[in-house]
Amino acid sequence: MRAEIIAVGTELLLGQIANTNARFLSEQLARLGVGVYFHTVVGDNRDRLRSVLEIARSRSDLIVLCGGLGPTEDDLTRETVAEFLGLPLVLDAGVLQRLEALFASMGRAMPPNNKRQAMVIQGGQILPNPRGTAPGQYVEAGGRRYLLLPGPPTELEPMVRESVVPLIQTWTDRESGAIRSRVLRLYGIGESAMVEQIADLLDNQSNPTIAPLASEGEVTLRLTARAADEAGALALIDPLESELRRRLGKYIYGCDDETLAVAVGKELAARGWTVAVAESCTGGLVGEMLTEVPGSSRYFLGGVIAYDNSAKQGLLGVPGEVLARAGAVSTETAALMAEGAARRLGADWGVSVTGIAGPGGGTPEKPVGLVYVGVYHSAMKPWVKRFQFYGDRRQIRIRSAKAALYALWRRVREHGGSGVEPERRE
Ligand code: ATP
Ligand code: MG
Repeated sequence: MRAEIIAVGTELLLGQIANTNARFLSEQLARLGVGVYFHTVVGDNRDRLRSVLEIARSRSDLIVLCGGLGPTEDDLTRETVAEFLGLPLVLDAGVLQRLEALFASMGRAMPPNNKRQAMVIQGGQILPNPRGTAPGQYVEAGGRRYLLLPGPPTELEPMVRESVVPLIQTWTDRESGAIRSRVLRLYGIGESAMVEQIADLLDNQSNPTIAPLASEGEVTLRLTARAADEAGALALIDPLESELRRRLGKYIYGCDDETLAVAVGKELAARGWTVAVAESCTGGLVGEMLTEVPGSSRYFLGGVIAYDNSAKQGLLGVPGEVLARAGAVSTETAALMAEGAARRLGADWGVSVTGIAGPGGGTPEKPVGLVYVGVYHSAMKPWVKRFQFYGDRRQIRIRSAKAALYALWRRVREHGGSGVEPERRE
């Protein structure tokens, strides 16, 4: 199956936004074993979109369009594709009802324009859009497959994961066998060290394949297998996964879309524990990552952004003497910040970050990128680790926050598995 992607939107041509949808779609299609041969961008213009469709039809089996499904005049993808295929647009009562209910729930009458979004190409299949108004559509015509997807990535990405990937899998499973993959997510080990430990597996890979990828201090391993059907593909992945877990288990915190924050949350929630954070150079990023996870209120109590020494002293109880002697960026301060957060917020665990994110503020003794992460639990010796990160301010902050989450994950697991009952403060 040869695929191509057509992004519709004048904003893209003007450079006002980047074509992240094409990147995302290509990534997803590659995982499904579908070859993407062309990316096209075209403005909100009927004639030019038609000519692009003409070319696409001549060379591709699957044509994925994104953008231009909105309610306004310049949103013309639906109409143009229908016209191009010589198929009428028909009103879908179910979609219309959902749109009306959506507006009613916001206490507003539906503008007449939005009715256009309930028009579907005759014979097409609707792809639900729980995060927006315009549903996606799938149409087959003249031996070609067309997917019409909304422009906003917040709508397109979940729609692809939830509806498009399963749809394409039904075709590929039937036509060329099943391809399935699983991603193992690692932290605390560099890509080269990891590759060294699995060199023999990497050298001899064929089915499943193993693809390492490093980004922002994390490493992932994507295992991909081909078989006659899904069960067969998963059965090929399982033993390889076990072997990788045997070798790299302590670094593997999650699978697939599970982030560090999700992994931490699972460990805490499973034991009924809570956490509070004390952040200096990350300025709330650890709290941000933790609270991005739905349901984090079960275990995340809150935190203190203690940027200035006065806040470390006043809000977290780090003695002025320690700050003066050891400094704000030090083992002692990190330990006391973590403890202060846990005590002041009444959490089982405290986690702290203090460091120099740069670009200024470094000294020969304490260079930019020096970061201390602390983890506190009343029944555990204070835990602090020193990191020397490289990169710009943004990278150092992200890496620091991830280091804090990983440190917490490790300590919670070790501690939680040791059978030591945490002391609960009243
Ligand atoms: P809406 O109902 O919001 O109008 P739409 O399906 O009509 O959605 P567009 O109007 O083309 O889509 O784009 C809406 C927004 O989605 C754009 O302003 C932009 O922020 C984002 N967007 C559109 N196309 C892309 C793309 N290819 N990559 C990334 N973002 C995009
Ligand atoms: Mg629009």
